[in-house]
Amino acid sequence: MKLSGWGRYPWIEAAGVSFETPEELAGYLKTSAAGIVHGLGRSYGDSALNEHVIFSRRFNKIIHFDDATGVVTAESGVTLAEIIATFLPRGWFLKVTPGTKFITLGGAIASDVHGKNHHQAGCFSECVLYFDLMLPGGNVVRCSRDQNRDLFLATCGGMGLTGVVLAAAFRLQPVKSAYIRETVIRCRNLHEVIDLFEENKSIDYSVAWIDCLARGDKMGRSVLMLGEHAKTGRKTPPPRPSLSIPMNLPGFCLNQYSVSWFNHFYYHRQPEFVSGRLVHLDPFFYPLDKINQWNRMYGRHGFTQYQFVLPKAAGRDGLRAILSRISAAGLGSFLAVLKLLGPKNENLLSFPLEGYTLALDFKIQPRLFPFLDKLDRIVLDHGGRLYLAKDVRMSEQTFKQGYPKWTELHRLRRSLNLITKFNSLQSKRLGV
Ligand SMILES: Cc1cc2nc3c(=O)[nH]c(=O)nc-3n(C[C@H](O)[C@H](O)[C@H](O)COP(=O)(O)OP(=O)(O)OC[C@H]3O[C@@H](n4cnc5c(N)ncnc54)[C@H](O)[C@@H]3O)c2cc1C
Repeated sequence: MKLSGWGRYPWIEAAGVSFETPEELAGYLKTSAAGIVHGLGRSYGDSALNEHVIFSRRFNKIIHFDDATGVVTAESGVTLAEIIATFLPRGWFLKVTPGTKFITLGGAIASDVHGKNHHQAGCFSECVLYFDLMLPGGNVVRCSRDQNRDLFLATCGGMGLTGVVLAAAFRLQPVKSAYIRETVIRCRNLHEVIDLFEENKSIDYSVAWIDCLARGDKMGRSVLMLGEHAKTGRKTPPPRPSLSIPMNLPGFCLNQYSVSWFNHFYYHRQPEFVSGRLVHLDPFFYPLDKINQWNRMYGRHGFTQYQFVLPKAAGRDGLRAILSRISAAGLGSFLAVLKLLGPKNENLLSFPLEGYTLALDFKIQPRLFPFLDKLDRIVLDHGGRLYLAKDVRMSEQTFKQGYPKWTELHRLRRSLNLITKFNSLQSKRLGV
């Protein structure tokens, strides 16, 4: 079958198996060639791609819920959308959620995803109590902060390279309603938006859309969105997706001029300031989920998301350096999202560092990768790194400099014989 990540680049020919029980998976692992788990394929690049893939989606039962503590135990193919649909009407929501709910529990752990509240709540692994991990011989080990700690720290953020996550127990947060109280502020430039992120650190959720083509004293002009769970309102389940992109749009639709026009229009459409309006949590957290297959918008060559983090001290200078390169190159992105990240955790490959992260979508075109190589240099020179869940092209050297704990993962993979069983196109490219 043909398979790709969310960026629809690259497409590869892969052989896949699905499993519904641990026994089926163990039988497969004992005889199979090296492969990688594939959840819902929402990682943008090649982290869930290999010639052999193991689809986890059918391993998807919710096993237990404790409504005194909010702890759910579920199989790793369950999606965050299913968790929300089941528990939101009962007054519970995820403690950490990325910008799409169409990902599996296994994918949330393996990428150690972060949300708009990383500065307050950390990564997804912060709410994970334990998970069961299947190793190459089919044996299952329970991993937590106290039990098999080295495997816990390597698996959260470990991009499927330590084994297959089976069931996991994780904590939800109680909410009084399905609504968010949102404040929207239009910011004139990068300094203003960063100052406002810092001033509003006590607010649970913050995220900014940023116009990456604006120059001069408008560089980094943005729309900042702040949110907190509303204390009142119904616990209605999320609405269904309503729109769809039926086919690849022609690549020429997205160019410097259309992006620049869109950014201008979007920025000026926003009111200067809106305080405390009520919005359903679905459009607040998952604005893109409303459009099915929106990834076709970038045309048949696909796209990639370039997401990096810079430590706080270097953040303003680094962001300015990168934004000026982007606007000078005219390689604009509709979707440019800036977030504040809190302190890093102990996991070997989790992405966040205390600072600012910017994520930009770019359609694939011949001059893109040489350009991104130059941005990589700026990111590394400012002490930052790139997010593995979005990556499809970084070099081994960029990875190893950004993630110095890769050596610990490599040692563990060698000692447990994981290298011969769990590999992705990404892990081979990065030499893990
Ligand atoms: C619109 C959109 C918005 C997003 N926003 C954010 C965001 O705000 N924050 C953020 O952090 N991420 C974000 N992401 C990225 C996404 O959350 C991650 O890539 C996530 O890992 C995807 O999960 P998946 O189930 O689709 O896994 P896949 O993409 O299929 O796989 C991702 C990785 O997880 C591994 N994996 C999956 N299941 C298992 C398992 N059972 N055991 C072991 N390894 C496993 C795979 O091998 C692979 O390495 C976004 C993605 C999209 C498309």
